[in-house]
Amino acid sequence: MKEILPPPVPGVGDPGDAVRQLFQQYVVPSYGRYDLVLSHGRGSQVWDVTGRRYLDLGGGIAVCSLGHAHPEVAETIAVQARRLMHVSNLYYTEPQGRLAAGLVRHLARGKVFFANSGGEANEGLYKLARRYGHDEGRFEILTALNSFHGRTLAGIAANGQEKFRQGFGPAVAGFRHVPFNDLAATRAAISPATVAVLIEGVQGEGGITPATPEYLLGLRALCDEHRLLLLMDGVQCGYFRTGRFQSFQRILEAIPGADGFLPDAVSMAKSLAGGFPMGAFWVRDRYADLLGPGSHATTFGGTPLACSVALKVLEIVERDGLAENARSIGAFLKEGLERLQREVPGVIRAVRGLGLMLGFELAPREEIPGFAAVDKPPSGQFVHRLHEAGVLTVPSGAQVVRLLPALNLTRAEAEEGLAKIETVARAAAG
Ligand SMILES: *Cc1c(COP(=O)(O)O)cnc(C)c1O
Repeated sequence: MKEILPPPVPGVGDPGDAVRQLFQQYVVPSYGRYDLVLSHGRGSQVWDVTGRRYLDLGGGIAVCSLGHAHPEVAETIAVQARRLMHVSNLYYTEPQGRLAAGLVRHLARGKVFFANSGGEANEGLYKLARRYGHDEGRFEILTALNSFHGRTLAGIAANGQEKFRQGFGPAVAGFRHVPFNDLAATRAAISPATVAVLIEGVQGEGGITPATPEYLLGLRALCDEHRLLLLMDGVQCGYFRTGRFQSFQRILEAIPGADGFLPDAVSMAKSLAGGFPMGAFWVRDRYADLLGPGSHATTFGGTPLACSVALKVLEIVERDGLAENARSIGAFLKEGLERLQREVPGVIRAVRGLGLMLGFELAPREEIPGFAAVDKPPSGQFVHRLHEAGVLTVPSGAQVVRLLPALNLTRAEAEEGLAKIETVARAAAG
């Protein structure tokens, strides 16, 4: 692929410097950014402004489900933009209706509300739960420790991690946190005000921790017993990433008695439109009309443009068998990481995840010879070394490095990624 900028000439300076200066002066510094200035991509390859190539195993944090600059997606955007981009939800448009039908087909009878982000999709779940419990005075939602549900004001109250709330008190009322995968603790936490339980099928920001089948089935029974809604945040672990449309479908595969399992609502975003901003929630049949006309809305939700893109992504995922690819390439990557864990146990402590949502947990920083001298979390240090080796990944907390690549990652790309992870791990072992 043709590089947009020529490689840097020694002594002339980095072409990214001007971009960094713009950020320094004009962009709110709410993100800790890596030093890379990225310019363009193709599939799972990304180039920076100096012309350096990276293998993208972060996928824009589980967003770029078909990789970068997918020609069919780009064409869909162009065609729909020339036809109709936005008209508001005061009118019907065909792409929104067809996309809702497509998502329902992968879950179960129910309906879909369209939003623009994961945090906004989850806001819809909170409102659904409050509407459901309103007449009985129930409003409280139980979420899991280490969970992540977004950065809105209610989102940071929902998150089972104190760090997101710090400095933004008072927290929105009505959320309590209980240990993940702990049914007894959840049961004990239910109060007369409790109306719903919200969990991720695989905790993403919490270190790539899958729910156990017993936990999911037990929560369903518990929610039925106490008339609570079981809400699932599929923003990161959903959309075929684990090898099935939603992670609970993968986790409960082949589990006796799990056939009829269904949450009451599921939020989605990230991969849904392959990089075009989109969020949504599905709500099952019996609660599908709880949010009636006038009760919930968003200006940009479900535009013909966003929905056309999402429909195209869905069509390609189905046509190209990308759920199966996520499952098989994910298994290959996981086996490679597990082998590495056995060979370099002083650096890699554990490997977790399903399909193309994988994490490897690092040893404490002081115990890793190559990382001990720098007072920064080991996950960040590992991610930085991978940049130097030409691979993009994402930390998940201080100890875990995440792989959330495009669903169409090839075997050769997975091999390249593993080889570079191995190089970094061996170097860190000293
Ligand atoms: C990213 C994420 C969110 C928030 O999504 P935004 O689009 O950033 O608002 C919510 N839940 C989970 C599980 C996520 O990974």
